[in-house]
Amino acid sequence: MAQDMTGGCQCRRIRYRVMVDNDEAYLCHCKMCRHATGGASIAFVSVSLAALSWQTEPDWYRSSPIAERPFCATCGTPLGFRFVEGATRMDITLGSFDEPGFFRPVHNYATESILPAWQDASHLPGYRSDQNPNVTDRWMKAVGKLPD
Ligand SMILES: [Zn+2]
Ligand SMILES: [Zn+2]
Repeated sequence: MAQDMTGGCQCRRIRYRVMVDNDEAYLCHCKMCRHATGGASIAFVSVSLAALSWQTEPDWYRSSPIAERPFCATCGTPLGFRFVEGATRMDITLGSFDEPGFFRPVHNYATESILPAWQDASHLPGYRSDQNPNVTDRWMKAVGKLPD
């Protein structure tokens, strides 16, 4: 079901609004996305260019002869991926959406480049950040509360 969504970068200089087609997202494991985002893989949502509006135009990095990637030059947030020629759709980074929990992954892409050890981390022990004094003490000292 189509849904009106918003998002943007960490410092909030770049903001967008987009009508997404549905709740489907995917993971790209390709080496270029890994370098562009610094992640083991990157979660993307494919959107129609006609349904996307940037409230502030992002900065663009020409990452290859065929593609460019929007980002924020102030805070560095990777915002997506777009083919340079003939694109009617582009990818937006899942983590840049205000409500990323709306989406669910439906496939893996560039499976030849998957880092197998990172495919399923659900069996690993988990630790809450709000119970880590090395983090919470710094927040309390800096601003008197924990981040949202
Ligand atoms: Zn920013
Ligand atoms: Zn990729």
